[in-house]
Amino acid sequence: MPKHTQCVHSGARKDKATRGLNTPIYPSSAYEYLEAPENIYPRYFNTPNERAVVEKLCALEAAEDGLLFSSGMAAISTVMLAFLSSGDHAVIQRDIYGGTHHLITADFDRFRIDYTFVSNRPEAITAALRKNTRLIYIESPSNPLLMITDIAAAAAIGRDHHIVTAIDNTFASPINQNPLALGIDIVMHSATKYLGGHSDLCCGAVLGSTARIHQVRKAAVNLGGSLNALTCYLLERSIKTLAVRVQRHNANARQVADFLVRQPAVRQVNYPGLETHPGHDIARRQMKGFGGMLSFELDEGKCTADQFLRRLKLITPALSLGGVETIICASAKTSHVKLTPAERQELGISDGLLRLSVGIEDPEDLIADITQALSPR
Ligand SMILES: *Cc1c(COP(=O)(O)O)cnc(C)c1O
Repeated sequence: MPKHTQCVHSGARKDKATRGLNTPIYPSSAYEYLEAPENIYPRYFNTPNERAVVEKLCALEAAEDGLLFSSGMAAISTVMLAFLSSGDHAVIQRDIYGGTHHLITADFDRFRIDYTFVSNRPEAITAALRKNTRLIYIESPSNPLLMITDIAAAAAIGRDHHIVTAIDNTFASPINQNPLALGIDIVMHSATKYLGGHSDLCCGAVLGSTARIHQVRKAAVNLGGSLNALTCYLLERSIKTLAVRVQRHNANARQVADFLVRQPAVRQVNYPGLETHPGHDIARRQMKGFGGMLSFELDEGKCTADQFLRRLKLITPALSLGGVETIICASAKTSHVKLTPAERQELGISDGLLRLSVGIEDPEDLIADITQALSPR
């Protein structure tokens, strides 16, 4: 079934009582059990509202099963703790979401979980493997530099060495990229972003095969980061327009990227859709669209990041991403603020680097706002 149709129809449970078109909201936390084949409970990740969303996401990611979480970080930390134990080693891509990076550097030592940060090149992943490596963790496109990892190559390394591979697919969304089809074992989303899409939900998702999700569910039930029925319902409603939104995000980001490349005050534009992007060829192979996220580096001699952000009128300096409205942030002061300046420098995150989440507005209005904010005064 094409994605636009899956977005609208997959997983939906029509209301038998009223013939209403939408999945009813089932808020109960207690369910009669005598005649029930399965014990329903929100923290068992099996309520009807959760299952409706999971089935929609399974259709979109070509997954067998999945789980919803109360945040993207709940999804990510649960996956980490499901596959890593004391004495194990993980190979982690260095250029990842700041919160994930901080979870690893702040907490893995306490659990005696060893890790190696690597570049996004397959040779670097292979070189870092040890006898006790149990997880290969990647993110593509990555945050905030939009680096592209060869997903099929990373998956093949995991398969050859019997190591679980996991990817944070938040930036691409299931419309632009389906890592399970490229051989990855576990896909994670911060559903707070494109899946929610309106900057008003906080949730996460994990998808994979029945066997892998069974293992994640065991950890998830104990860790308890489940999602409530009302938010499940809102997420289901949001995903109905996901394909339409992402199509527009893709087109708008392309126009803004093409515009930024021509600006003298812009040193560098990171967008995988640009032919000059180092990961462009791989992105063309593994992505169906290049996404709504880009980042660019201002020449702070011409216009500082702070001046630029304060002059914007339509585009809002705000955290998060993936909503219908265009927002922008300086990575060094927001998502990567917990890193040391040396760590940021190593990652290539300068003070002039701005991350733009291009929304679904008229692109001419976005370009006009950027133009006036860049113009000398
Ligand atoms: C926001 C984000 C997360 C964390 O998700 P939360 O919903 O904020 O917990 C993880 N990965 C990426 C790429 C993100 O953008």
